[in-house]
Amino acid sequence: MLILISDAFAPDLPEKLSPYGDVTDDKGKLPKATVMLVRSKTKVTREYIDSAPNLKLVIRGGVGLDNIDLNYASEKGIAVHNTAAASSIAVAELAFTLMIALPNHVTKADSTMRAGQWAKKKLKRTELYKKILGIVGLGRIGTELAKRATAFGMNVVAYDPFVDSSEVATMKPDLKDVLNNSDYVSLHLPLTEETKGIIDGEILNEFKDGAYLINTGRGKTIVEEDVVEALKSGKLAGFGNDVWYSDPPENTPLIDAPNVIMLPHLGASTKENLLRIGDIIESIIRDFVPTD
Ligand code: NAD
Repeated sequence: MLILISDAFAPDLPEKLSPYGDVTDDKGKLPKATVMLVRSKTKVTREYIDSAPNLKLVIRGGVGLDNIDLNYASEKGIAVHNTAAASSIAVAELAFTLMIALPNHVTKADSTMRAGQWAKKKLKRTELYKKILGIVGLGRIGTELAKRATAFGMNVVAYDPFVDSSEVATMKPDLKDVLNNSDYVSLHLPLTEETKGIIDGEILNEFKDGAYLINTGRGKTIVEEDVVEALKSGKLAGFGNDVWYSDPPENTPLIDAPNVIMLPHLGASTKENLLRIGDIIESIIRDFVPTD
């Protein structure tokens, strides 16, 4: 059995998987691969699947499956797994990092120092304590973020049409109820037909003036141009972003927008998470029995 590692995983993964078959990162061997490991970079489209006639199992290291044509994989009898639970802490910590870095002007303070400026009087910080955090999508990651925010003395509200109650957040029945009152809004949504472009100009008008927006979910859930307008007008005080229309982004207007912290899709990329993902992948492959 040939196991193709198509994207970046922990360096020890090839050795860990070697008892189960031949392991390669040579993408030219796709036609011979039985098992393929991807993160978000490889797009497992219909054409991709057609060029892999021996493929029986795709494992997505991470959560979102929007880079995989699930219907076509199922039609072709290819099993698809993810490692959903592994990344929650890594992504929640990154969302929290952005939530601290934005109101404390961490990147601006650093860049002005490097430019020889002493911006002590200009850079006024605000505290998280007693502020309202609105979480949109209260799943695994949103829940971990809520716990951390509570420890900082924040009040947490959330909108998720599939979650009725929570021990870590006050659920609101309407997205607008969350946006109207939140000082920080953090998005933890999967990319679906309903969530694509959900944060557009119209819904941005529902945000509290001067709110901060954070997105570590999926890039296409926001309309980038509309977020840029909201940043320019001051409707949004800042935007912390880890996720893009494509990796890397092409011609994103966010590059020139004020008060943005941009990260190159680092959410899942902690050393600890890549090791956790590797352990889950090993257990999936251990249990996998290829069929003809
Ligand atoms: P999850 O499935 O546990 O949580 C997602 C939540 O969103 C669910 O509770 C679901 O009910 C809710 N939801 C779905 N549609 C909604 C809607 N229209 N409005 C409000 N809520 C809605 O997933 P998770 O593990 O918490 O991950 C969340 C997302 O984070 C993933 O789908 C993935 O896109 C993203 N992610 C990003 C990174 C990164 O590197 N930045 C890493 C892992 C996951």
